[in-house]
Amino acid sequence: MTKAWMVALAGLAALGGAAFALQQKAPGYDDTPYLPGDKWRVHDSKRPHPRVITPGEAPGAPPSDAIVLFDGKDLSKWKDSKGQEPKWKVENGYMEIVKGGGITTRDEFGDCQVHVEWAAPTPPKGESQGRGNSGVYLLGGYEVQVLDSFENVTYADGQAAAMYGQYPPLVNACRKPGEWQTYDIVFTAPRVKEGKVEQPAFVTVFHNGVVVHNHTAYLGPSNHRVVAKYGANAATKGPIHLQDHGDPVRYRNIWVRPLKGYDDP
Ligand code: MG
Repeated sequence: MTKAWMVALAGLAALGGAAFALQQKAPGYDDTPYLPGDKWRVHDSKRPHPRVITPGEAPGAPPSDAIVLFDGKDLSKWKDSKGQEPKWKVENGYMEIVKGGGITTRDEFGDCQVHVEWAAPTPPKGESQGRGNSGVYLLGGYEVQVLDSFENVTYADGQAAAMYGQYPPLVNACRKPGEWQTYDIVFTAPRVKEGKVEQPAFVTVFHNGVVVHNHTAYLGPSNHRVVAKYGANAATKGPIHLQDHGDPVRYRNIWVRPLKGYDDP
């Protein structure tokens, strides 16, 4: 190789290196003002980037970072009140409530996104609170009501998707009994400092894709016939619980995503 060629190649390599260095510089700015009360500037080049995940292939399918709690096959992620594997029936990709008590996840969660699918018994039996009653409890105590509210009247704060005993859903988006329905829940656990609740639990719920609670605060863990309130040392983490209210409600495709903050992606 001639000396001229070597010089030319060295020059090209240097150019390539410069281009590479340019590419490596994180996009963004380091001379913009700070966001109020934050450690990050507007468009901060050093701000951590969100994790890359793969969304579920179809709406409702678990994304790659979900913890699948029930995939239609077994109840290994759940326990009964005695800590044993639950006796609920599992067949054809769903579980069905068998009287004898609710089931609870073995793991505990704080802030989280939860996807649940359920179907009320068909043909419908009973009325008001006696028709297709179950419930999804966040943090072991905050109920999003499950009920057959298709042409079945009950008290408003006890119908399907109600924050039981506190707020009715914004609309009744219930499907017919026997049809699969979805809850997509975003739950924010209470913030507790020195035993006192500084910020209540919040919930956002979509019922069959329709928003029925929009970041609404719970008055406390769900209760019957009394005003809910927070006790001392309210839990900030807890299991997800599915209620047995004596009706053979079915569940399938249940998954959860624990939620972290922007700075902890
Ligand atoms: Mg219930």
